[in-house]
Amino acid sequence: MVDEKIVREEIMNLKPYIPGKPIEEVKRELGLDQVIKLASNENPLGPSTQAIEQMKEAINKVNIYPDGNVHNLRSKLSTNLGVESDQLIFGNGSDELLVMLGQAFMRSDDEVIMAETTFSEYEFATKLMGAKINKVPLKNNTHDLEAMAKEITDKTKVIFICNPNNPTGTIVKKDEVEKFLKEVPDDVVIVFDEAYYEYVESTDYPETINYLLDYDNIIILRTFSKIYGLGGLRVGYGIANQSLINYMERVRQPFNVNTIAQIGATASLDDSDHVAKTLDYNRQGKEYLYQEFEKLGLEYVPTDTNFILVDLPMSNDKVFEEMLKEGVIIRSLSSYGYNTEVRITIGLPEENKKLVKVLKDVLGV
Ligand SMILES: *Cc1c(COP(=O)(O)O)cnc(C)c1O
Repeated sequence: MVDEKIVREEIMNLKPYIPGKPIEEVKRELGLDQVIKLASNENPLGPSTQAIEQMKEAINKVNIYPDGNVHNLRSKLSTNLGVESDQLIFGNGSDELLVMLGQAFMRSDDEVIMAETTFSEYEFATKLMGAKINKVPLKNNTHDLEAMAKEITDKTKVIFICNPNNPTGTIVKKDEVEKFLKEVPDDVVIVFDEAYYEYVESTDYPETINYLLDYDNIIILRTFSKIYGLGGLRVGYGIANQSLINYMERVRQPFNVNTIAQIGATASLDDSDHVAKTLDYNRQGKEYLYQEFEKLGLEYVPTDTNFILVDLPMSNDKVFEEMLKEGVIIRSLSSYGYNTEVRITIGLPEENKKLVKVLKDVLGV
């Protein structure tokens, strides 16, 4: 037994992350051969085939260390986004960038503001650094930026805004964000986590890159894990002004993004057909699921992402367990403090159909 006294106090109240159940694990445990996973907001079409081809070639070069500067991906993204190449930083998923933000900015007496119901890794990064968390309840399933601004004190260091928000799928609008930015002091780092940026259809969604012209304290996080279908590779990136990027670069490990990930991500950027097709499937799947949920009288939150929060007439953990037995993995939101809500990733047409069928069986309707 390791004596608790030798452990950093900050980690005593951390719990290991519980990811969506892997397909293989469910097959093994329940003896099923057909299992679908609609739990982790992955792209059901898989990665771009062009990216797969390039990655196959890249495997021959893995004796060589990755490009620590991520040159090719950086240069392509900087062109696409219209920012300078030194306004970008890459991470082993945007998860790693969240930890790097903590390492670069959070001290133990700092306060960090986040929504009460949002992506769990903000809390992880904050607790890891021993900073204090101030959670602000959502309003209509959306970040309440007015209430969040009111919570700012002299000790506030970082504010996380997940836009669109995971697990609700909602956005904060351009006018709300612009009003909010004026109220935040420039010694507070504002993080816009835009993991689902490419899926957004609402026209009043802010184009936050434009705010970098006026604000040095903003960082935008995006990822290749969701629409690009590369969750298994771990590539995310941050966009900010040079000084903020510079401080984060100091805590970055030299080879944090591996060779295959760099090549896969770069090739994905060239496959706009794959992105368009993904959006098409997502839109159709969303409409289908909305209709089916309405027929079942279930309340759901309209989404700007590839997942839908649905409220069920029974315990979310119970529904999760029952659906699992039928080979459908969804996400119970009990760990977010909800009792009857689940999060369902929009899948391929046949996956969505199976989901609806199994859900009906489990609800007994
Ligand atoms: C999935 C997700 C991420 C994590 O992305 P990675 O790049 O795979 O680490 C970050 N933020 C939100 C809100 C997400 O849903």
